Amino acid sequence: MKPDYTQAMDIRGKSTAVCPCGCEIWNLKCKFDDEGEIDMYFLDMECAECGTLATAPTPVDSEPDKDMSACTRCEAMYETETLMTMGDWLVCEICWGDL
Ligand SMILES: [Zn+2]
Ligand SMILES: [Zn+2]
Repeated sequence: MKPDYTQAMDIRGKSTAVCPCGCEIWNLKCKFDDEGEIDMYFLDMECAECGTLATAPTPVDSEPDKDMSACTRCEAMYETETLMTMGDWLVCEICWGDL
């Protein structure tokens, strides 16, 4: 695929996986490891369809926003799923060990 640059834009900054033109194929530089898996890639990429420059997404970006809650006892913030429920208390692992 060779991009036709007449509609090319530069939307680098916020990472994206789909080009504004609707294309999901990107040209970017990457490096493979010994198993043939992608080892690393450059965040600068170019739409294979229109040549728009964009920033590649990283696995961290795709993680949903973590749901955070405060431990009722020590009031430190933790990911909600790591807290233990005790009655109407939410307790962190450290406090749980102390109780
Ligand atoms: Zn495009
Ligand atoms: Zn705690």
